[in-house]
Amino acid sequence: MAVLPIRIMGDPVLHAPASPVGEVTDEIRALVADMFETMDAAPGVGLAGPQVGAALRIYTYSYTDDEGLPWRGVILNPELWMRPLEPGDPDPDEESEGCLSFPGERFPLRRSEEVLVTGTDLDGNAVRIHVDGWRARIMQHEFDHLEGILYVDRLGDGDWKTAQKIARKRGWGRPGNAWTPGIDDIEA
Ligand code: ZN
Repeated sequence: MAVLPIRIMGDPVLHAPASPVGEVTDEIRALVADMFETMDAAPGVGLAGPQVGAALRIYTYSYTDDEGLPWRGVILNPELWMRPLEPGDPDPDEESEGCLSFPGERFPLRRSEEVLVTGTDLDGNAVRIHVDGWRARIMQHEFDHLEGILYVDRLGDGDWKTAQKIARKRGWGRPGNAWTPGIDDIEA
């Protein structure tokens, strides 16, 4: 297993839809093992294939709630249903998220409160994830990665401009930027 470099905003693989996973080969199993290791090292609550340069419809997730109950897994070829968004502006304290592909920043974004995600696991078994709150946010964020969407693409005008300014200053927004947890000193 290995910690993989995480692509940063501007890398083309992050901005195009990913392809469905076909047969689960040893390569796919190794990729998923590396994705778990990379996600944990970052640390992050989710990691999608495109973020490590694999344009495949796979993501891992890992979240521990206030009661200390771990929630962790991988899903292949997910489909996502969500409850319509509540109208209004997001609360910066309660509704801010970050992304390992735009590391070190957080911005408020309104997400659906409840989602249902279906797909399969590495053994081809059906996976059905019906969650709300922060878990629903993670599912929407990771699913977006498979569609080639970063959360910064969804921000309101002011925050979007701030994000673009930060990206410009750091030399992001063009191909070839990545960081590796444990090697590059970035506070994700
Ligand atoms: Zn992300």
